[in-house]
Amino acid sequence: MIKVAVNGYGTIGKRVADAVFAQKDMEIIGVSKTRPSSEALIANKKGYPLYIADISKKPLFEAAGIKVAGTVDEMIAACDVVVDATPGGIGAKNRALYEKLGKKALWQGGEDHEVAGFSFNSSCNYNEATGRQFTRVVSCNTTGLCRIIKAMDAEFGVKKVRATMVRRGADPGDPKRGPVDAIVLNPVTIPSHHGPDVQTVLPGIEIVTTALVVPTTFMHMHIVQMDLKNKASKEKVIEIIKAHPRMGLVRKGLGITSTAEIKEYASDLGRPRSDLWESCIFEESVSVSDDNELYLFQAIHQEADVVVENVDAIRAMAGEVKDPEVSIKMTNAALGFEAI
Ligand code: NAD
Repeated sequence: MIKVAVNGYGTIGKRVADAVFAQKDMEIIGVSKTRPSSEALIANKKGYPLYIADISKKPLFEAAGIKVAGTVDEMIAACDVVVDATPGGIGAKNRALYEKLGKKALWQGGEDHEVAGFSFNSSCNYNEATGRQFTRVVSCNTTGLCRIIKAMDAEFGVKKVRATMVRRGADPGDPKRGPVDAIVLNPVTIPSHHGPDVQTVLPGIEIVTTALVVPTTFMHMHIVQMDLKNKASKEKVIEIIKAHPRMGLVRKGLGITSTAEIKEYASDLGRPRSDLWESCIFEESVSVSDDNELYLFQAIHQEADVVVENVDAIRAMAGEVKDPEVSIKMTNAALGFEAI
């Protein structure tokens, strides 16, 4: 069993903890919080030992009826791999601790590539993570882009990608962020950072991205265009998406034309927290021009798509499972997850 600690039990951390808990070859030895909260209470209820960075705050947790198992340092010392899911920028500061204790660590997309010197996506570069001490799982948007670009590149060759990300303003549980009533160019400059981030995983891909933020909380929407090198067809593209373990097809005829309807679908499917671990590609949007330009819309659940990637990254770093397809299957099966 791979002993996993989750440092930062928030939006991503709590989902990674549940996904790790579901795996047969992994166990959760602890999760961490900085302040008492309903999430900390739930960690207790799920039986995940809860650790805190500042032990002087233990009475605050206990006053809220939350049990504390010890300090973050103790948690890290007891694990094989730590998943750092603290807010962007904080994870990099934790690197010294992981180094000092000689632990394997993986970070999220809110940190720069340099935090680990290696950026990960299961479908693209699983093997390069084998046995590594440090890895960064790329952001939700970059994960969604990498999956489709890699799959198209393997079949047709990709000459150039252009993509626009219409991003959610805040996560559903976050009352502090916006916008409430605006379309915000984020960034106003073109290109956005997403293209270079894709290149940390797929260095050979030419890509230009733009991004804006809208007043919604569930999912990003990508408008993707790719110039392909070889003859392609809509039918073949759809076949590849259907066969991919982490891409799903929003089938035509179901009447789904929005993220709101996808959320309802995920909830009706009984997915935990309505999570969509797969990229959701709209079948009717897939089109290929005579000169091999591919166009499509894909919706990306920002809270969920990186979760399964974290599980594979842990497995790759632990070094026991060398084949990415085996790991992806193990991860998906443990979650009872079949792409839509
Ligand atoms: P979050 O704010 O929901 O959760 C972060 C957690 O870390 C909180 O539980 C907080 O209590 C804890 N924390 C804060 N400071 C800490 C510290 N010093 N030590 C230990 N724990 C601390 O954040 P999130 O949305 O889960 O984001 C985590 C990472 O995942 C970021 O790098 C982010 O960019 C990335 N990410 C987020 C999303 C998303 O949509 N939310 C998607 C993909 C990747």
